[in-house]
Amino acid sequence: MKLTVPATVQTLLSDLRRAGFEAYAVGGCVRDSLLGKEPHDWDLTTSALPEQMKQVFSAYSLLEIGAQHGTIGVRLNGQTVEITTFRIDGSYEDNRHPEQVLFTNQLKEDLSRRDFTVNAMAYAAETGLVDLFGGRQDLEDGIIRCVGVPDKRFQEDALRLLRAVRFASTLNFTVEPETAASVKANQALITNVSAERITSELKSFLLGPGAGRLLSQFAEFFQVVLPSVHLTEELCSAVDRAAPDSILRLSLVLQTATDPAAAVAHLRLSAAEEGRVKALLHWGSLPLPTTRIGARKTLSLLGADLASAVADYQEAKGTEVTAFRCHCNAVLTDGDCYRIKDLAINGKTLQQLGCPAGPQLGSLLDALLQEVMNDRLENTADALRGAALKEITHGASQD
Ligand code: ATP
Ligand code: MG
Repeated sequence: MKLTVPATVQTLLSDLRRAGFEAYAVGGCVRDSLLGKEPHDWDLTTSALPEQMKQVFSAYSLLEIGAQHGTIGVRLNGQTVEITTFRIDGSYEDNRHPEQVLFTNQLKEDLSRRDFTVNAMAYAAETGLVDLFGGRQDLEDGIIRCVGVPDKRFQEDALRLLRAVRFASTLNFTVEPETAASVKANQALITNVSAERITSELKSFLLGPGAGRLLSQFAEFFQVVLPSVHLTEELCSAVDRAAPDSILRLSLVLQTATDPAAAVAHLRLSAAEEGRVKALLHWGSLPLPTTRIGARKTLSLLGADLASAVADYQEAKGTEVTAFRCHCNAVLTDGDCYRIKDLAINGKTLQQLGCPAGPQLGSLLDALLQEVMNDRLENTADALRGAALKEITHGASQD
């Protein structure tokens, strides 16, 4: 079995081997290579201790990524490759991080601490594939299976519960029955995992092609991950219909919560992501217009990007949005006016016409925009000037 290893990675592996250490590519990069996918990064594992790695790589610039866990980042050809000493995880506390890590010179021990068989393979040109737990067969069969006894592995680190369904979703695999039963039996342990780690795995999970199927199979587990959401078959199909956009799919799930705002706050989303979820939840349940004028007004309120996401969201829920989409496309391609900046007049001109700066100016611009969007006023400098003057003099005579 020969895999294609990038030249940079091969250089680092060879450096370690020349110095008398074992060294392998390991984990996700081996899995993805076997699947014929380009790995997004290459993690290496070695029998060299962190201090020994520093000597071997003294000519390169090094990053201290987690020396206490045995990980060093080596910069080469503009890339950072993470190299970790073979290790055994010490005893676990609270179903989370191991209390301490122990280094070992046995690859087997390092591979047996890894979560799933498909993630527990190593590769080096000199040795070929090292597959001690049947990972290659499981990859061929499309199966996520724990390395070792599932109950024990999930009790050691409860994040693995979510990782099992995350890999099943992203690889579109099934969870092996004993592993699946163990996820369900141990589901309550997920509450011991930090919101940051849950949110990150959950977003990857939702991007995968298996998301809807696994939400349905592990509905009770997800109801512990996201308290108060209510996963129906209909919702799971809606997630599958939605484009693979984690925020769009997350919003679909969160709308089923008894208290969606609390469910959003429970996650650790960025401010931008949180804003988008809230906007989708709000606009996702309002009827979308089916006229060109209506489309302009919605685009004006939401902007093109959010308006399109709201249409995606509603479409996933089974609402007919074709007319809205067509009108939005026409507004955008024809360059219809739907923003203040599209008006053929600006605030400065209005001031020259006698409108005082401040809120009145903003209201006047907005009133002109509404008239133009409603097709009651032409978007030309002359027409807008005329309408503005009328407003200004009318306002002045009322004062
Ligand atoms: P991805 O393509 O999503 O990055 P990956 O397999 O590289 O997939 P990582 O989370 O980057 O996943 O982890 C790298 C490797 O470390 C995994 O392949 C697995 O061998 C091991 N690993 C990561 N997290 C755990 C965990 N919680 N328990 C056991 N092993 C783990
Ligand atoms: Mg990775």
